[in-house]
This record gives sequence, structure tokens and C-alpha cells, in this order.
Amino acid sequence: MAEPIINCGQHTNEILNLFCCKCEEVICVHCMIDNHQKHEMKHLFDARKVIQGQLKRILTTEHEHITGKIKEAKDFVSNELSDSDTDEKQVCEHIEKSAESAKNKIESQTKDLIDNLKTKYATYIQTVQAIVKTVTETETKILELRKSVNDIDDIEWTQQVELFSKIKKSINSLKTMVKIKKDI
Ligand SMILES: [Zn+2]
Ligand SMILES: [Zn+2]
Repeated sequence: MAEPIINCGQHTNEILNLFCCKCEEVICVHCMIDNHQKHEMKHLFDARKVIQGQLKRILTTEHEHITGKIKEAKDFVSNELSDSDTDEKQVCEHIEKSAESAKNKIESQTKDLIDNLKTKYATYIQTVQAIVKTVTETETKILELRKSVNDIDDIEWTQQVELFSKIKKSINSLKTMVKIKKDI
């Protein structure tokens, strides 16, 4: 089994060759420095049993559970997108309240506040849209594999790692989304 050469989505010059045992994520050396310091690490190849075990469960018995999670994420996302008018109103109300409570209602200060919140909101919507894409792609891939694959060994190791990363990313995306929403 050769080492899969998959570039890190966040650090495109680095190869995904590490496995964080704590976060159960496939990462690169930069990811490790940025987000996984002091976490137990394995070389990717040495984690293949863990990865294959999880994938096997996802592709067989736990599939419904994962699909449920993905569906939850998708529903949340489509609600977010359809509620964007309401959200925009809420953002405006929030701005008004913030503006009211500010001691000095100097015009320029209010404008800065509005611009700041608008930028945050626009970034949030962009993030949500990216999440829809990731989650949908992952679900499609799982469904596709379920049709054609009987055994985990039928899938190439590189593909296994890619799929594993996608699934983790989809599940983590939802958490990130909720966190960002709180910050607005
Ligand atoms: Zn990375
Ligand atoms: Zn970690």
C-alpha cells in the first residue's frame, strides 16, 4: 500500500500524512502546528485500521446514523438560507439596539458598526454555502459507494483517506456554523 498523496485543503503545499488521535482527523504538518499541538499523533499509515474501521461502519451498519447527521446538517443549512431575510432583519434590529445602547450616537460610529456587522453576515452566508457544498458532496459519495462497494478493501487507500476526511469535515462543519452564528 503506497502512501496516498493528498494535499491538505487548507495548506495546499502540504501533504496529508498525519492522523490526530484526539480529533480523529487526517491532517498535515501545518494543521498540527496550528490546531493540534500536544494532541496524540500517528503517522497516517499507522492509523489505517482506525480509518478503515470507521469507514466500514459508515458504509455498512452506521450509514443511517451518518445520513441522519448529514440530513440534520442539510436541513439546518437550508433553514439558514431560507431564513436569511429574517436574519437580515435580526441583524438590523441588533444594529439598532447596539446603536441605541452606544453612548455616543455619532453617525460615523454607527456606520462603522453597521459595516462591521454586514461584513460578518456576508462572510457567514458564504460559509454556509460552502458547507452545503461539502455536505452534499459527501452524501453523494457515500450513496455512490454503498451501491458499488461490498468491502472496504474494494476502495483504494487514497480514496479511503479522502472519504474519511470529507465525512469528518461535513460533521465538523455544522459545529463551526453554529459557533459562527453565535458570534454575529
Ligand atoms: Zn493542513
Ligand atoms: Zn487534534
